[in-house]
Amino acid sequence: MGSLNLLNLSKVQYVILGLSFLLSSIMLVLTAVFFLLSIGMQNMISIISSNLEYFLLLVIAVLGLNYSLLHFGFQFFIQRALHDTVSVTSFDLESILQKKQFNLRLPNYSNSVMQTFAAQVNQLLNTLEKEIEARLNLARLSLQDQMQKSNLTQYDKLTGLPNRLYFTQTLQNELIKANKAGINPALILIDLNEFKSVNDVHGLAIGDALLIAVGKRLSEFTINKKMISRLSSDEFLLYVGDELGDVALIEYANDLVQHLIQPYQIEHWQIQIAVTAGLALAKDADYDLSTLLANVDIAQQYAKQHSKQAFCLYTPSMKAVRMRQQQIANSIISAIAQKELSIYYQAKVDCKGKVMGFEALVRWHSAELGFLPPDDFIPIAESSGKIRHITNFVIDQAFADIPKLINKYGQALIVSINLSAIDLKANTLLNTIEQSMLKHRVNAKNVEFEITESSYLENIDQVNNVFDALHTLGCSLALDDFGTGYSSLSYLTKIRVDVLKLDKQFVDEIERSNSGSVIIKCVVDMAKELNMKVCAEGVESLSQANTLLQIGCDQLQGYHYSVPAPLSKHINE
Ligand code: C2E
Ligand code: CA
Ligand code: CA
Repeated sequence: MGSLNLLNLSKVQYVILGLSFLLSSIMLVLTAVFFLLSIGMQNMISIISSNLEYFLLLVIAVLGLNYSLLHFGFQFFIQRALHDTVSVTSFDLESILQKKQFNLRLPNYSNSVMQTFAAQVNQLLNTLEKEIEARLNLARLSLQDQMQKSNLTQYDKLTGLPNRLYFTQTLQNELIKANKAGINPALILIDLNEFKSVNDVHGLAIGDALLIAVGKRLSEFTINKKMISRLSSDEFLLYVGDELGDVALIEYANDLVQHLIQPYQIEHWQIQIAVTAGLALAKDADYDLSTLLANVDIAQQYAKQHSKQAFCLYTPSMKAVRMRQQQIANSIISAIAQKELSIYYQAKVDCKGKVMGFEALVRWHSAELGFLPPDDFIPIAESSGKIRHITNFVIDQAFADIPKLINKYGQALIVSINLSAIDLKANTLLNTIEQSMLKHRVNAKNVEFEITESSYLENIDQVNNVFDALHTLGCSLALDDFGTGYSSLSYLTKIRVDVLKLDKQFVDEIERSNSGSVIIKCVVDMAKELNMKVCAEGVESLSQANTLLQIGCDQLQGYHYSVPAPLSKHINE
C-alpha cells in the first residue's frame, strides 16, 4: 500500500515551533513583570517619561517580536489545517483519480477531523481497490474461459486432435473443394477392437495413455495433421487427399493398420491392440458429408462383422447389408407381436447320457425376411437397443414351457436362457424374471441363465451384482462360450458362476491335436477347484463325447445328442 507525498512537517518540528512560541510569550510577560517590580511604579513613570523614545522603541520591538511569533504560529496552524485540506482535496485525490492509483492511502493526519476524513477516504479506497481487483479477476477468468472454449470446441482434450465438430466442418469444406476440382479423396475410420478391456484390465489412466499414443501414431503417419480426428472414445477418422491414387490408397490404409497394431509401451505395460478400419471414397458419396460418414462406418462395420479382416473398402453392396440390418432392427417389435419369434430347445445330457436340461434358443421365421438365425438378428437387436424385447419374450415363453418339460423330464430339469450384456444393464430384468416366475409358477431351481464370457468381462462388477441377485432368487448361472478370445483366466477366481460352458472351438480341438484334450483337462480341473461344473458345447460325435467324459466334463450338449427343436418335438418324443 503506498503513502501520499505531502508537505507535512515532522512531529519534532511541530514541537520545536510550539515551544519557541510558548517561551517567547512567557519571556515577554516575565520581562514586563520584572521591570515593574525592580523599578517601582513611580520610577517607571519617570524613566518612561525621561526615556520615552527608547521605551517606545522597546515596546515596539517586543510587540513586533511577539506579533511575528503570533503571526507565524497562527499562520503555521492555519497553514496546517489548510495544508491537510488542500492536499486531500486537490493533490491526493487528483493523483488517485487521474493516475488511477487506487492503492494509494491518505496519511495519518494530526488534525482529528482530517484523521476521520482520511480514515473514511482510505476505507473507500480499500473497497474500491478490492472491487477493482475482483472485476479484473473476473475479466481475466472470462478471457481464459473464452480461450479455453474456442480450443475445446476445436480440439479433443485427451489427444489434442481436432474433435468431431471441427473435423467435420473442415471436411465439409474439403469435400466442396474436391468436388469442384473433380478429385476423389477418401475417408478412413479406425476402430480399436476391445478397447474397453484395456480399460477394464489396466485401468482408465492406461486406457487414456493408449488413446493418446494411437493419436500420436496417426499424426506421425499423416501429412495433414488437421485432418485427423478422434470421433468417439476409441474411433478415429482420417481424411486422405487424392494424391495417392486408388491402388496406393489401399496400400496406405493397410500400412496404417499395420502401423497401429504394433505394440505400445505404456508405462511398464506392453499393449497390443487390434483395429478394424473402413475406407470410403468421396465420389461414392457424391461428395456429401453425411453419406461419406455413413459409408465409412458401413465399411468399418463390415470389416468387423464379415470379413474378419482389419480393413474394408466401402462398396455399394455393403450398403445393402446395412439396409437389411436396419430393416431387421425395425421389424423386431412387430415380429414379436405377430408371433414370428419362437423358441427351440436343445437338450443337455449328464455324464450318464440322461437329459438333465435344455437350452432355450430363439428362432425368427419372418414373413418378410425369411428365416433368420439368431446370430443374424441378436447382434442387431443388441446394437439397436431392442434386445430386451427379445429377452422378455424368451423369458416369458421359456417359463411357460418349463412346467411341460418338467412333466416329461423330471423335477430336476434345468432350462437355460441366454442373456446379453445389455440385458444386465437394464434394472427391470430382475423384476421381469420374478414376475414371470410367479405368473407361470416356475421354481427358480429349474432356471439357469447363460452369459457369454465377453459380456461378463465387459462389465465384471455390474454382472456380479446381477448374478448375486439371481443367485439369491435361487437360479443357477453359466459362463457361455468359455475360452473364446481371452487368455487370462485369473478372473475366474472372482466370478460367481455354477457352470463353465466350454465353447465348441475347444471341443473341436480334441480331434485336431493331443494338446486340445490336455488344455480341456486343465480347464476342467481348474473349474472343479473353483466348485464349478463344466458343460461341453457343440459335441458332434461319440468319440468327442467319450473323451470329454473321460476328462471329467459334467454335461454335454451338441448335435450328437440333440439338435435344437420346438417344444412339441421334445415333449411328444
Ligand atoms: P450359444 O448360446 O452358444 O448357443 C449354441 C449355439 O450352438 C446354437 O446356435 C446351437 O444351435 C449351436 N449348436 C449346438 N450344438 C451344436 C453342434 O453340435 N454343432 C454346431 N455346429 N452348432 C451347435 P444358435 O441357436 O444358432 O444360436 C447362436 C447364438 O445366438 C447362441 O449361441 C446365442 O449366443 C445366441 N442366442 C440364441 N438364442 C438366444 C436368446 O434367446 N437370447 C440371446 N441373447 N442370445 C441367443
Ligand atoms: Ca448359450
Ligand atoms: Ca455357447
